[in-house]
Amino acid sequence: MASNWSLCGVCDNRQMTKSSVIWCSECDEGLCGDCKEHHSISRGTKNHITVSIAEYKKLPTEVLQIAQVCKLHNEKYELFCRKHDCPCCKKCVKSHNDCKGLTDINEIIKNVKTSNAFYEIEQTLLEVAENIKRLSTNRKANLKSLKNKKSEIEAEIKQTRTKINHHLDKLQDDLIKELMAVEQTESSKIEKLLTALKKKENEISEIQENIASIKQHASELQTFLAMKDIEKDIAIGENFIQSITTSDTTNQVNISCQINKSLQLITASVQKFGEINVSSDPCDFSMQKRKDRQAQIMVDVPTRNIDNLSLTLQKRINTGLSKSKVVPYFLVVGWYSLVIDKIK
Ligand SMILES: [Zn+2]
Ligand SMILES: [Zn+2]
Ligand SMILES: [Zn+2]
Ligand SMILES: [Zn+2]
Repeated sequence: MASNWSLCGVCDNRQMTKSSVIWCSECDEGLCGDCKEHHSISRGTKNHITVSIAEYKKLPTEVLQIAQVCKLHNEKYELFCRKHDCPCCKKCVKSHNDCKGLTDINEIIKNVKTSNAFYEIEQTLLEVAENIKRLSTNRKANLKSLKNKKSEIEAEIKQTRTKINHHLDKLQDDLIKELMAVEQTESSKIEKLLTALKKKENEISEIQENIASIKQHASELQTFLAMKDIEKDIAIGENFIQSITTSDTTNQVNISCQINKSLQLITASVQKFGEINVSSDPCDFSMQKRKDRQAQIMVDVPTRNIDNLSLTLQKRINTGLSKSKVVPYFLVVGWYSLVIDKIK
């Protein structure tokens, strides 16, 4: 029924297809222009509140699809069983004979739009929407902080690298300077000795030339006397060589370099520049929650949780007060205690 709102229900029953122009919730059917006239005059229906189809179809699909008559018996709902939390038509009532909380459905639905329960739903939706917004803001802030942190870490890595580069450059320069100086010192020692040797070599050559000349031209006596001097010179030369070979000046000088083990470790055991860690701390975000919301809704809406309330309602009726006066009391939570007090 409820989904055929676009066609006139009355005409449909007469096998005619006409578009509806208004919707009557009480008849739970759409009405065409002609049937609308009849509906507004007829005694049984003239007090029905109707709405134009244009307005009616603005309702959410979920609402349009809610059956407004009993699915089992195809009859109007008359009562509401609090125990089973369900609406009942006249025929349904048979299966709720033992249920104490049967209430006129018209009393239950009266003022439902201004009820505290409806208000609470609206407020809760606002609150949920607000919480979603706050959560999104919170997560977006985290996204931004992650991005910033990434840039910071990247800069730190590069800075560390530059620092290491500069330090290594300096160490390398220092070592090369030291190498140059050591080589220079050791080379100059050898060169100094070579100079002395060259000088001695020249002296010896000179003596050799003298000997050759003496052999050719000097007398026996001259030769004999000259030999004495030459022997002295030879002794000096031999001493010179002796002193050189016994000193460390003829040692085989070598230079070598032991590269610092810590530096070698960089390539051998330093396999990672650093470690990127993820930590996750519970954030201080707290959901906004209306105080006592749960309690209020439970009092307000006819649910299984309020059997006690249903019982007190029965008592009120028995003392002679009309139900219509009692039910609105229940719809306003603030008055809940008032009702309980009166009952006592
Ligand atoms: Zn019609
Ligand atoms: Zn009607
Ligand atoms: Zn039924
Ligand atoms: Zn029941």
